[in-house]
Amino acid sequence: MKQLSEHYIDGTRRHIETGETVTVFDAATEAPRVTVRLGVAGDADVAVRAASAAAPGWRGTPVGERAKYLLALANALEERAAVLAEGISREVGMPLKLSRRIQVDAPIAAWRATAALAETFAFVRQVGHSRVTMTPVGVVAAITPWNYPLHQITGKVAPALLAGCTVVLKPSELAPSATLHLIDACEAAHLPAGVLNIVSGGAALGSALVAHPGVHMVSFTGSTAVGRKVAASAAGDMKRLSMELGGKSAAVVLPGADLQKAVKATIASCYLNSGQTCSATTRLIVPRDLYPECRALLAEAVSAMTLGDPAEAGTRIGPLLSAAQRERVRAHLAEAEQAGFDRIAGGPDAPVPASGFFVAPTIYGQVSPDSRLANEEVFGPVLAVQCYETVEEAITLANGTPYGLAATVWAADDATGADFADALRAGQVDVNGARFNPAAPFGGFGLSGMGREGGIYGLEEFVEPRAVQLP
Ligand code: NAD
Repeated sequence: MKQLSEHYIDGTRRHIETGETVTVFDAATEAPRVTVRLGVAGDADVAVRAASAAAPGWRGTPVGERAKYLLALANALEERAAVLAEGISREVGMPLKLSRRIQVDAPIAAWRATAALAETFAFVRQVGHSRVTMTPVGVVAAITPWNYPLHQITGKVAPALLAGCTVVLKPSELAPSATLHLIDACEAAHLPAGVLNIVSGGAALGSALVAHPGVHMVSFTGSTAVGRKVAASAAGDMKRLSMELGGKSAAVVLPGADLQKAVKATIASCYLNSGQTCSATTRLIVPRDLYPECRALLAEAVSAMTLGDPAEAGTRIGPLLSAAQRERVRAHLAEAEQAGFDRIAGGPDAPVPASGFFVAPTIYGQVSPDSRLANEEVFGPVLAVQCYETVEEAITLANGTPYGLAATVWAADDATGADFADALRAGQVDVNGARFNPAAPFGGFGLSGMGREGGIYGLEEFVEPRAVQLP
């Protein structure tokens, strides 16, 4: 079994001698895969000191040089792409082919795209008689979740480093493959010591980092529940915050839209990564008179969603991360059954492979707007269908959860879809199946958080404008 039992601080690996361990299992076979030793709160101080000591040198390094390090890191990750894709796939359950494309190749492309911003981002701007300099925020604590481990790390660390910040990264202890290979990549890229420090730990180390007075900014991605604690702790020192939290995103089908296309795309989005995606469209909102047709199309579409080992070529949906996640999702299903919603597919008793943390792809219709299923993130392959009579009601339903991360609109034409999109409180809205744009801002309203990642928007999170007035 592999082990992650070290921090990477000040350019060196520091073995963690004692402390709690977490065993990470293969999601499809339930065999133990990696043991992760968790650092303790005091390790945060060592890492923050290293990041603080490296800050002046890194801030003073020309941005073009900093960009070269980002490219070197991208190259080092690319050399490890196959093992990264396999490791993440076994841990989180995403089918291997998708894991390579989405979990690995996309983040590597993002390291390169961020490096390219060195050429175009205006770090110095003239505003009247003021010279405005986009200065690095300082020492950044980056805390990331397990569901897209390398992607989440990249969305924070790449722009922070380009901006001239130094970083202490605490990745999720539940998806260690990305961390193991990132440490190797940092060494291969000869990143200057202390610029990026990576600590192995869980809640104790994470909260010590957030509270550390040497940290100037916390960039957090994870659950809203933990995000609340992080924001409260960071408020004491008025640390800058960027928070990417949960979602309950809606796909809205407007009258005249291509229902078949909408159903297929919604299923694909909802079940991507077994539903373990913050921006998954987990609600489908349709005109009431289309419900019978929609119900039939959904049942047909879900029957093509083969459940199985992520390494098998025919698998469309893999397992969930862990037994704990599976039990959490099952509790949602039990509640939906009790509420008497119209089960269209799956459910708690639907057949699943004998081993692995599987939940069958599930759809409930006629889900009431005040239910937990309509409002809370399930983080599993579960779709809730809701019906509306008027377009105003569709807007109310779509905006009716405390979240506001993403949405999809299906309309008879793109202009109608774009108009409807403007009425939604969501950070990302796709019209008529438009594809993901990594350069566009990604982030949410309400309980989905604050701040944005992606492109120049992600870079701007890590700079403070300083105005110098000249006579
Ligand atoms: P989580 O909140 O349990 O953990 C996230 C990170 O916070 C982990 O590294 C964890 O060790 C750390 N942590 C836990 N307690 C902490 C504390 N008290 N102080 C500081 N750090 C602490 O989330 P998760 O289960 O890893 O990830 C799933 C969640 O992440 C979902 O809610 C999902 O929607 C969200 N997410 C959001 C986005 C986005 O961009 N909006 C992207 C991916 C995932």
